[in-house]
Amino acid sequence: MATDSSAPRELDAVVVGAGFAGMYMLYKLRELGFAAVAFERGTGVGGTWYWNRYPGARCDAPSMQYSYQFSEALQQEWRWTEKYASQPEILAYANHVADRFGLREHIQFSTSVESAVFDEESERWRVTTDRGEAVSARFVVLGAGCLSSRNTPKFPGLEDFEGEWFHTSDWPHEGVDFRGKRVGIVGTGSTGIQAIPVIAESAEHLTVFQRTAQYSVPARNTPMDPAYEARIKADYRGFRERNYRKPMALDVELDPPEHRTFEVDAEERRRTYEAGWETGGIALFFAFQDAVTDREANEAVSQYLRDKIAEIVDDPETAKALMPKHIYACKRPCLDTHYFETYNRPNVTLVDCSEGGVESITAKGVRAAGAEHELDVLVFATGFDAMTGSILAIDIRGRGGRSLRDKWAAGPRSYLGLSSEGFPNLFMISGPGSPSVLTNMIPTIEQHVNWIGDCLVHLRETGHRTIEATLEAEDPWLIQVRAAADQTLWDACDNWYQGANIPGKPRVFMPYVDWPGYLAKCEEVVANGYEGFALR
Ligand code: NAP
Repeated sequence: MATDSSAPRELDAVVVGAGFAGMYMLYKLRELGFAAVAFERGTGVGGTWYWNRYPGARCDAPSMQYSYQFSEALQQEWRWTEKYASQPEILAYANHVADRFGLREHIQFSTSVESAVFDEESERWRVTTDRGEAVSARFVVLGAGCLSSRNTPKFPGLEDFEGEWFHTSDWPHEGVDFRGKRVGIVGTGSTGIQAIPVIAESAEHLTVFQRTAQYSVPARNTPMDPAYEARIKADYRGFRERNYRKPMALDVELDPPEHRTFEVDAEERRRTYEAGWETGGIALFFAFQDAVTDREANEAVSQYLRDKIAEIVDDPETAKALMPKHIYACKRPCLDTHYFETYNRPNVTLVDCSEGGVESITAKGVRAAGAEHELDVLVFATGFDAMTGSILAIDIRGRGGRSLRDKWAAGPRSYLGLSSEGFPNLFMISGPGSPSVLTNMIPTIEQHVNWIGDCLVHLRETGHRTIEATLEAEDPWLIQVRAAADQTLWDACDNWYQGANIPGKPRVFMPYVDWPGYLAKCEEVVANGYEGFALR
């Protein structure tokens, strides 16, 4: 679909977003015979991988698994060149999928959905866009992304800055030339940790403004091993089926940990950590059974990681400032390529602003840690209004004109992260209350899309007009999400999982921790005739 005038006015379904969620939802709807369109604010497909073009952007989940499995032909024909795919390669893959399955003509690009209002009489949603058009649809599926509403903190003085500034998730398509420039970067989460080593290679000088030091483990990315690829492809379907029910829907390529941390002596503990560090990726996370559930066990691995920083970073003061104090993996663990080594470069300076953060932006640079740092270019790797930001950016009104923003004023409320009471025929892919960001996202996106697709077919076959979560199901689910988080240490420090990175955002731990349990629950709900949902 290229222009407004060709947009159908009456549809079965509107999909919001054409990232990996929206694309597969669109494919599924059309396969099932539903007339559907996707609205996408970017000029192309790929979602996260369309926007986050910053230097060093790469996925932390192995490419042979961070990819669609719905088409055996697709997964056989596509060839990943590295263990962990780079952003350009993932974006090329998204474009390949869009072309291969003829999705592009059903996507309206450069279009943001502004509102979705449910009309109780017709039982249809009226969806409006920033291009001034409106469509009517029975179903709305939100695939707008868990990490796509960017957070640029309101730094005082930003408007006075005379240099150029960029947010990593709104990176210019033509790239940024850092040569001969004094560059500053704010943010040392997964994004900053990937970008810093690459920017340091070309910038004249790079100043890193760090509010919170982060744990990071070498990713140990490698070119794709053709023998490994052939082995997986010999039984790709079986590989996927086995991984589907594993924690995080991911084969971590490690034996499950045999022991709890303190069941082994200090020497064996050290050997196990060393093996995890050498393996890289998330191996340390799985070194012992209790790394993210027991505080003492967590402190043991945390201290090991701090010691590693001391080993790698030459300047003891810088090393000390880089050592995190919070619980390991409470903030999302980072993977890197030569991150800590970068601080040994003569053209890199760390500014520890853990006390006051970035104080202000001036015409010439950044004021932090009591000094002004002159810069030509400023990069914000400051993250996202996660999980709810892109949903609540849309003015969504359900039964009785009730606004989702009002309903979620104290935090998101959903059943299974799929549906919210009072909002019939409105589905979320990877919504708050689902495992989403704590999983290998593409396979778990596929599970949501398959569930929604089956549900729509069920409605069609049984003659039901609407489906929505009941309050009787939603309230206990909220408690279950909370209780699952309480079994872990994920909620034990400030992080974006609970909205702590956005001033004023309600503090609610949003993702559901137990993927295998969640999968079983979704299956049980269907087996029991959509238990917890009202079908009318
Ligand atoms: P993030 O984890 O939220 O990190 C944002 C960084 O900006 C933090 O260091 C934060 O410090 C800092 N910051 C925010 N506001 C600030 C302020 N006012 N002053 C100073 N510093 C400030 O965001 P992200 O790095 O973009 O990552 C978000 C998520 O995206 C990741 O957790 C991950 O799930 C995903 N991601 C994945 C990959 C991958 O697969 N490799 C790569 C990138 C991102 P504080 O910690 O003190 O708040």
